[in-house]
Amino acid sequence: MTMETAEMYDKMGVSREVYDFTEHIIGGLKERFDRIDDTAEYNQLKVLKAMQDNGIGEAHLSGTTGYGYNDIGREALEKVYADIFHTEDALVRPQIACGTHALSLALFSALRPGDELLSASGKPYDTLEEVIGIRPSGGSLAEYGITYAQAPLDENGRMDPEAIRTRLSPNTKLAAIQRSKGYQTRPTFSVKEIGEIVSFIKGIRPDIRILVDNCYGEFVERIEPSEVGADLVAGSLIKNPGGGLAPCGGYLVGRRDMIEAASHALTSPGLGKEVGASLGVLPLFYQGLFLAPTVTASALKGAIFAAAAYEALGFPVYPKASEKRHDIIQAVTLQSAEAVISFCRAIQAASPVDSFAAPEPWPMPGYDSDVIMAAGNFVSGSSIELSADAPIREPYTVYFQGGLTWPHARFGITRTIQQLLDDKMIDRGALKCYH
Ligand SMILES: *Cc1c(COP(=O)(O)O)cnc(C)c1O
Repeated sequence: MTMETAEMYDKMGVSREVYDFTEHIIGGLKERFDRIDDTAEYNQLKVLKAMQDNGIGEAHLSGTTGYGYNDIGREALEKVYADIFHTEDALVRPQIACGTHALSLALFSALRPGDELLSASGKPYDTLEEVIGIRPSGGSLAEYGITYAQAPLDENGRMDPEAIRTRLSPNTKLAAIQRSKGYQTRPTFSVKEIGEIVSFIKGIRPDIRILVDNCYGEFVERIEPSEVGADLVAGSLIKNPGGGLAPCGGYLVGRRDMIEAASHALTSPGLGKEVGASLGVLPLFYQGLFLAPTVTASALKGAIFAAAAYEALGFPVYPKASEKRHDIIQAVTLQSAEAVISFCRAIQAASPVDSFAAPEPWPMPGYDSDVIMAAGNFVSGSSIELSADAPIREPYTVYFQGGLTWPHARFGITRTIQQLLDDKMIDRGALKCYH
């Protein structure tokens, strides 16, 4: 078995030496992987039960055009999401353009002029800076007279109850928590930790509503932030919950009144959830959701394998291979621009689509240094598929995520090791000690 696989790897440009090194690394991860599979099994049943309980049938897959009135498939899908996340209601739509849009809908619908938004988890994700108005932008919350306060994280990168307490004001209406680290070097918060902060805030001010940015976190654990007190939870369908099949879209789950308000922001007051044609996406939304627990597990295994392999090769990795995971992102500090470029080119070369392309760093809008991105994806920009990106600046850290299947995630990472070895950016001796 292994012999044949090693030969296949050889045909795809990976030497026996590198393959054996990865075999050794993976040998040490078996227990970890078993626990990930257990979580995937639990979540698979959770998704299946929600579909069965809602009586999903063939009729739910057909979709609507035009206004999209009486779209039974869309309505049932929103019930399925509400069940999975244990919430009163949900909004799951192809018209939600991305994760930022879902979060923006949540913020604009929950806040009114004079209200204050508090970020309880330090600096928010880059794209939210313009939504909030931290970086001036036309139509931001700031332009509508909605103020903003930010509670910094403590020295360990954890949410800091005392910092949160001192930043509460009589106008604080909504507190936002970002689960995943995004592109920062801080820990991703567990659902339990999020629950503790929710209880802390509600203990002081029960009227404050809590929004959780759940991007990259869905199905990594057995529970979601909405099960520990969050009033509204938002995410992107081209990350975990779309299972790699959703071609676009975003979701919101939470309190009925808050979902209704968000639906007014999405379509219009008075129309709310009643309109929004699902066109042809429902089979992909349903099937993607069905696959999401195991796809997320594949991506998690890829992240842990990358951490373990690069740790063994002597590179700083974040989080470390042995750490608990609460999202699917892996950072590896490669220490030179050349190594970052080699890594990203190898991920691209390992992709099913556009494997022949060589990504180049470019000055992407909104970033203060050139950025390189590798993604040979079926769905453009999808980061549940094998992908890597990096700003070209010190300390030259590459962010890696995704992998629709574990074998593909494994191959992609293995391919990067071969590339760095060929480009003389890792020392052959580092592989040999496992030989
Ligand atoms: C991806 C992501 C978002 C939203 O990004 P989009 O590219 O707009 O989908 C927001 N927050 C976090 C933590 C993310 O990872």
